[in-house]
Amino acid sequence: MECFDVIVVGGGPAGLIAAGHAAEYGRRVLLVEKNRAFGEKLNRTGGGRCNITNAEFDTRVFLSFFGEGAKFLFSPFSRFSVQETFDFFTERGLSLVVEERKRAFPETHQAADVTRVLMEYMQEHGVEIRMETTTKQLLLEAGKIVGIETGRGAITAESIILATGSAGAAPDWLRETGHTVHDATPDIVPLRVKEQWVKDLSGTTLDPMKITFTAANGDRLLREGRILFTHFGISGPLILNSAHEVKKLLKHGPVAARIDLFPNLEPHEVDTCVLETFGENKNKLVRNVVKALVPTGMGRALIALLPPELLDKKVNGVTLEERKALAKQLKDLPLTITATMGYDWAVVCDGGVDMAEIDTRTMASRLHPNLFIVGDLLHLSRPTGGYSLQLCWTTGFVAGESA
Ligand SMILES: Cc1cc2nc3c(=O)[nH]c(=O)nc-3n(C[C@H](O)[C@H](O)[C@H](O)COP(=O)(O)OP(=O)(O)OC[C@H]3O[C@@H](n4cnc5c(N)ncnc54)[C@H](O)[C@@H]3O)c2cc1C
Repeated sequence: MECFDVIVVGGGPAGLIAAGHAAEYGRRVLLVEKNRAFGEKLNRTGGGRCNITNAEFDTRVFLSFFGEGAKFLFSPFSRFSVQETFDFFTERGLSLVVEERKRAFPETHQAADVTRVLMEYMQEHGVEIRMETTTKQLLLEAGKIVGIETGRGAITAESIILATGSAGAAPDWLRETGHTVHDATPDIVPLRVKEQWVKDLSGTTLDPMKITFTAANGDRLLREGRILFTHFGISGPLILNSAHEVKKLLKHGPVAARIDLFPNLEPHEVDTCVLETFGENKNKLVRNVVKALVPTGMGRALIALLPPELLDKKVNGVTLEERKALAKQLKDLPLTITATMGYDWAVVCDGGVDMAEIDTRTMASRLHPNLFIVGDLLHLSRPTGGYSLQLCWTTGFVAGESA
């Protein structure tokens, strides 16, 4: 039977860096990948540009975006943090550029260049690679993991690094070896909305705005930033990153949301704006003036929400009460969230091995010390913006060093 020092299962970002680094440490490494080529997913990240990390160099601030998971990550990030990611790629000829919200991309804007750098790293240090080789099972002897069973036979190794991502069979192997594996649940996903007026605004963005979500039991969540209307509901980074919390509110039934189109104005200031706009358009129908009252693209929404008898009135016939109600509406557009969009729409899923079962100084399982678990296989919820790939670089690197 073939024997290696380290087998890395899965050639995604976490597996590639882990394999390269273990080999750099002088280990005899085999990487097995079920696909024909590397980068099938990595090359699609960041819309093909690869949001490789988030340029927040203060680890404490960076990890604050991992919520409860942060406490597990200080140790591996003390070994390989955002700065090391910048250094790693820059030293290998791929400079990074930073865009809004500190999102970092390769300056070539080609995700395939990230895959290429990692492949060169593995080649440089002599990683043996087997493509189109599916791992079927972990190989155990007397309760100890000794290797893997592939579609092409069994291979043994001192250490196994599991880097398969959270889809596929690896979660089952982990359960069978005694680990607690949380099911993947849609986490960073858009929200489905009931009202047609929202869907009619597909493609419109609103920035800034404030949105309040209220659950049937009264629990509330408030978020401020940019919203993107889509043909099924609402999306955009703010919504994607709020979905985890909204999902909790949805446990009590549909969630009532209200959008404030003018978060930076007091109600009486909005009323003054309406008064001024009305003053300039006295003889027009309200229907033809509403566009001037709201941010670009939102006129249609207001027409759908306002009573037809008001829309068909001339501006100079609008009563004080009607005007005040209209101004109030601009700070309080109602919509109903019925669901999160589900697994296919998820940018990142939580789900994976419980972090309490990982020794994060090495990324080894506490149950099987020669089994290392990295990347998306870890149960850690985080936002979009480069946090997931940084998790792969950090955990892959630390596992490679320790395996
Ligand atoms: C469309 C999209 C865009 C994204 N964009 C970004 C972004 O810009 N920035 C960011 O930070 N995150 C992004 N993410 C998330 C990021 O891609 C993942 O967090 C990351 O790919 C996880 O890496 P991984 O190595 O853990 O697993 P994966 O990337 O899933 O790689 C696992 C590898 O293992 C292989 N494999 C699985 N099972 C087996 C088996 N049994 N035998 C052999 N091989 C196996 C797979 O073929 C695959 O190559 C995006 C995700 C998606 C879906």
